[in-house]
Amino acid sequence: MKRDIYYFCYELLMASAKEVISILKKNYPDIKYYLNFKTPLELFVAAILSAQVRDEVVNATTPNLFKKYRTAKDYMDADLNELVKDIKNISFAGNKAKYIKEACRILAEKYDGKVPDKVEELTELPGIGRKTANVIMINAFNKITGIPVDVHVLRLGYRLGWTTTDKNADRSATELEGLIPKEYWKEFPWLMKAHGRAICKAPEPYCSRCFLSSICPKNGVKRQL
Ligand code: SF4
Repeated sequence: MKRDIYYFCYELLMASAKEVISILKKNYPDIKYYLNFKTPLELFVAAILSAQVRDEVVNATTPNLFKKYRTAKDYMDADLNELVKDIKNISFAGNKAKYIKEACRILAEKYDGKVPDKVEELTELPGIGRKTANVIMINAFNKITGIPVDVHVLRLGYRLGWTTTDKNADRSATELEGLIPKEYWKEFPWLMKAHGRAICKAPEPYCSRCFLSSICPKNGVKRQL
């Protein structure tokens, strides 16, 4: 009996998630991945730079960077201080420059300069966690390996009642991957980001003008606009 109730609730939650995704797709028809890149290496570097940095800032920094450093070896051989200067507008530039140099040394020495297309190999590289590995897998290789949980996915997944946490990205990813059908995993973070930026903002969402208001449980929302 308990098991039946669990599956009934789960089915309801999944149906609601599919409905929300469909509504979001209608409202944000032109969404696409937000960092500019042409090759897996460019995405690899841009993804490291993007931690806690707005996409616009990353996209303003990378054109010159990608022109100057074209291969993993170029980054490996770069003078650290010069690389820090090249990414000076990015938060934590010093640490990120070190990650990029060290990760690119491994790419050059172990992977013939190529970005590996396996999550286990990516997450062994400096600066690459589960979220970034999934971002690279999905957007550089079109291999759907998991849902990348950024701040928007974390916050909205919880407010919409799909996860039990808005603090723990790994737990949120596991819960969402158990709920959201895999066919949606690629676009899902883009939709969450679009809605998180436009309406479901942190810390106070605009619930009064949200087209999801009638079906959203608003978990954890203390004040709304
Ligand atoms: S109703 Fe409020 S909490 Fe729910 S998605 Fe919309 S803005 Fe976010």
